[in-house]
Amino acid sequence: MVIQANNNTWTAADGAALYGLDRWGDPYFGVSERGHVMVQPQGDRGGALDLVELVQELQGRGLGLPLLIRFDDILEDRLERLHAAFERAIAQYGYSGRYQGVFPVKCNQQRHVVEQLVESGRRWHFGLEAGSKAELLIALSLLSDPEALLICNGTKDRRYIETAILARRLGRQPVVVIEQADEAQRIIEASQALGAAPLIGIRARLSSRSSGRWGSSVGEKAKFGLSLPDLLASVEALRDAGLLNELRLLHFHVGSQISDIAVLKDALQEAGQIYVELTRLGAPMGYLDVGGGLGVDYDGSRTATAASTNYSLQNYANDVVATVRECCQPHGVPVPTLVSESGRALASHFSVLVFDVLGAEGQHQPALPAPAEDEPLVLRNLRDTLQAVEATQELEQLQEAWNDALKFKDDALAAFRLGYLNLPQRAIAEQLTAACGAAIARYLGTLPADAQVPEELRRLPASLASTYYANLSIFRSAPDTWAIDQLFPVLPIQRLHERPTALGSFADLTCDSDGKLERFIDRGQVKSLLELHNLQPEQPYWIGLFLAGAYQEVMGNLHNLFGSTDAVHLRLLPSGGYTVDHVVRGDTNAKVMQAMEHNPELLLERLRLASEEAIGRGQLKISEASRLMAHLEASLGQTTYLKG
Ligand SMILES: *Cc1c(COP(=O)(O)O)cnc(C)c1O
Repeated sequence: MVIQANNNTWTAADGAALYGLDRWGDPYFGVSERGHVMVQPQGDRGGALDLVELVQELQGRGLGLPLLIRFDDILEDRLERLHAAFERAIAQYGYSGRYQGVFPVKCNQQRHVVEQLVESGRRWHFGLEAGSKAELLIALSLLSDPEALLICNGTKDRRYIETAILARRLGRQPVVVIEQADEAQRIIEASQALGAAPLIGIRARLSSRSSGRWGSSVGEKAKFGLSLPDLLASVEALRDAGLLNELRLLHFHVGSQISDIAVLKDALQEAGQIYVELTRLGAPMGYLDVGGGLGVDYDGSRTATAASTNYSLQNYANDVVATVRECCQPHGVPVPTLVSESGRALASHFSVLVFDVLGAEGQHQPALPAPAEDEPLVLRNLRDTLQAVEATQELEQLQEAWNDALKFKDDALAAFRLGYLNLPQRAIAEQLTAACGAAIARYLGTLPADAQVPEELRRLPASLASTYYANLSIFRSAPDTWAIDQLFPVLPIQRLHERPTALGSFADLTCDSDGKLERFIDRGQVKSLLELHNLQPEQPYWIGLFLAGAYQEVMGNLHNLFGSTDAVHLRLLPSGGYTVDHVVRGDTNAKVMQAMEHNPELLLERLRLASEEAIGRGQLKISEASRLMAHLEASLGQTTYLKG
């Protein structure tokens, strides 16, 4: 159903405010006077692309919607911002250590993404975090900087550990993190078998709980991380095996998307004290890895609600630096190099999914026929009611009118049953009733958010809402939890300078009950209907789903039942234009690594070359090199999926 309204006071800035673009979009997304979403891939440094024109041009190159557009400049800008924030905090608090981050590969395993981060991060020796054997292989093949850290998390079997040990011999810096009580023993056995040890980390299970959506995966009952008794037992086992000297890193991870900074502060204090204790127990230490969790303000509300954060990137860096310093200083313990595994905060902004709307249910009512001479009374009553509704500005009168309209509609039904009204006449009655509802909804749309609206009327707009059919298969194939739990900014990328006159939600073409998008950001809250425009004949209506670069890309690619969702990587040119760096044709059933554009052959070849060099330098024995290659080949053969 269409809610008509006049357009005269609506500008593109109103559109940006309505969808929160001016809050969550800053500094990468904005709006032009023409009502198009604009992208500034380099943030404040300028250079802007018109997203609508961009999609048109990409279509001209034969790419189809839905289309995942990755702005590599944004990825780089995020990386710079993260480092700049830590550099500022370190200077401000006189911290005598460094920050050296890693990217958790599971956050976005796409080869171009990981490669890009490694390349751009080289100047800071930015590293990678692997949570499974497949990710370890990806990290090993892409990370060649000998100073960058390769944090090895996840459940580890003997082959995983041996691969890490051999990678250290190769000149890399893998840190094998003990996450489960029996892993210390496995590390000891592997080290004894190979006569070489990895760098060792230990993951503490903190008592501090995340308030976020993933809060239940941390705390004392969490699946990963050692309880304090297990942690102490592992330290003693390492000591007995002569490996305590390799214990360098303390790791914790409170869960993704920490919304409330207070949770992080608690965890940091607890971890800081454990770090100090570990140095007292004789471990050399040197690194404190604060895990992931750095949140993204999806709705721009700056609140401690699930889709937001009550802190900025700079607040986060300040708290990490200041708290760790406060823990170490009184004990005379040298401050550690700070590591974070920030995935979401780095990768969310750079991807935009654009899809088109194929049609909308309930939008194209036929025009109301003019009243006939001998029109039945019930229809005349409805016409009068509609006139009254359109003329009035009083809530109370509107409610009365609406009650009248509903009553007349019932009368019309009764009259039809008794044969006094024919079918076209009954249809007119329904149309008139709907028009009354739309007129009231239009009036309600102009009221301030806190206006006292009677419940019956408040529900009216929802009952008139349209379903927009999205040309997108992901809702059908994406897990329920995704659609239900996570909010993303969703908005039309054109016509933002026109007042949206409809309310709607999205469904994919199957109308599968899971194939829906009906939860939208609303400044710290959630709304079930989005303000949208009435579709115009022959005019495309494109919707953007933003901040989709972390964890969600799978929806644009791997889980798409139709298979061929395209993706492009774009770079801004100094002249203001752009180049398309990579075009990735989506694929469906290829093995996971290949689906993420990794080439297992190339991976083996790179590591073979690195091994040859290490042999040449006398770092690696030929027998170790062949063992490493055997592990890699075997692991590749086993890998059919990645752990989440
Ligand atoms: C998922 C995960 C991360 C990444 O978390 P973000 O919230 O995306 O930064 C980091 N470390 C570990 C151990 C994880 O499981």
